[in-house]
Amino acid sequence: MKKITQSLMAMSLVIPSAALIQSTTQVEAQTQKEVTSPSLNVRTGPGTNYKIVDWLQKGEIVNVLKDGNKWDYIEFGNGKKGYISDYYLKTVTVSDELRSVTPYWLTLRNGAGDKYQPIDYLKKGTTVKVISYTGNWAKVSVNGKTGYVYSSYLSKASSTPSKTSNVEETQTVTAYWLTLRNGPSASYKEVDFLKKGTNVTVHSYNGKWAYVTTTEGKKGYVYSSYLSKSTTSTPVATPAVTKPIEKTPTTPAISAVTKYVNAADGLNLRTGRGVQNKIVVKIPYTASVKVSDVVNGWAKVQYGNYTGYASVGYLVDSKPNVTKPTQATGELKGKLIVLDPGHGGQFAGAQGFVAEEDVNLQIALKTRDYLQAKGAQVVMTRISDTACSNAGYNADLSCRPNLATKMGADAFISIHANSGAASASGAESFWYNSSRGDQKLATLILDEIIEETGMKKRPVDYANFAVLRGSTVPATLIETGFVTNKSDAAKIGSPTYQDKFAKAIAQGIQEFF
Ligand SMILES: [Zn+2]
Repeated sequence: MKKITQSLMAMSLVIPSAALIQSTTQVEAQTQKEVTSPSLNVRTGPGTNYKIVDWLQKGEIVNVLKDGNKWDYIEFGNGKKGYISDYYLKTVTVSDELRSVTPYWLTLRNGAGDKYQPIDYLKKGTTVKVISYTGNWAKVSVNGKTGYVYSSYLSKASSTPSKTSNVEETQTVTAYWLTLRNGPSASYKEVDFLKKGTNVTVHSYNGKWAYVTTTEGKKGYVYSSYLSKSTTSTPVATPAVTKPIEKTPTTPAISAVTKYVNAADGLNLRTGRGVQNKIVVKIPYTASVKVSDVVNGWAKVQYGNYTGYASVGYLVDSKPNVTKPTQATGELKGKLIVLDPGHGGQFAGAQGFVAEEDVNLQIALKTRDYLQAKGAQVVMTRISDTACSNAGYNADLSCRPNLATKMGADAFISIHANSGAASASGAESFWYNSSRGDQKLATLILDEIIEETGMKKRPVDYANFAVLRGSTVPATLIETGFVTNKSDAAKIGSPTYQDKFAKAIAQGIQEFF
């Protein structure tokens, strides 16, 4: 929470040793292929007699690890592997995209994994050219070097030279609804759901995926086949600052379309849009429903004689294959968690060996993934380097707990990193109102963090912080470590440790309920 501006970066930390550069070896290039079938099964072995473990949608890009005669061994999504029929694949070349480094520094490695040797260290704001993606890793070219970086730490470059793949034009959504994702494939997380007729600004294409900004200022990727050039000559919108989710008025219903429930435990039909509304009935897995309107990710749904609202995340166009494994284990099903990566945008956090606002966001995004895997619904106060509110420092602080209150969340978790003397280290957590469970929540999460990461344990303390005071739901503020301590910063800035923090926070939340 403390704001101390320091330039503690010792140059020796960012200059790779000559020995590391000499040991660099080229990693063999992988072929990328695109799925051409509407739904393609992924199996445990090369034949239809093998078990189905997942399925891919048309337009998804996979990495071919072993190109077989009829069956290819592939990698997809977040590093998942399996066999798919070669017949439904075509070779693609990923267009060169320019991306910008978002953390204080980012390690360039000679292979797609933490275990590979560092080649270089890229400073925040460095522009890299993305050649391809392998799981969570991007193969990039920068300063005449080619290597791999963790792809979550790249954002769209702010100044992009004009290229054929880069366009700036307004297009209109033609699908009944279109999912906006944080990466160019259907395996990336949903950012928002765009209604038919919504205008977006297309910046560039990555294969079949278009990188767009919505009129609300949200950025992400959509499947470009569901966009058409606008007939009206609307001027290209200047991207707005990302705003927190706001309820938009319901628009008149248009004719209903048929969708299918894709939630193994069934889908709750509710009296209104949002998990705070009462459940009307649980619609079984694979049941067909009529959908007539979508607002903020909630559809108006008719199931038999029942009418209500359901989350569109569990509604799909075709009847789900019953062998598809369930994504969510369900321990947190029905829980709505608001995650608040502290600071961001014009309100930077503490600066040290790493920038607080960056590590807060990186840990929060990973925490979101763990919570969603447990079946929780997660709302973020920000998903990129932006403020929650640009109306001023205090408005930005109150914007965060206000979102939890407005959403009727079951818990509000604000994620921060500390600063202080170089010797100060460790993780701690804060509570404000013990009668609503803050102290229990703060204790359970900190205990999990200490166990999972081995951070030094600092106390669970009372604090009269604005972000806790402003919440009406169980709330805690977590300080993961000190950005000003070399050892702490190395942990909270490392993808491997960030994953441990995220796992621990999600586990602590689960124990709370
Ligand atoms: Zn902070």
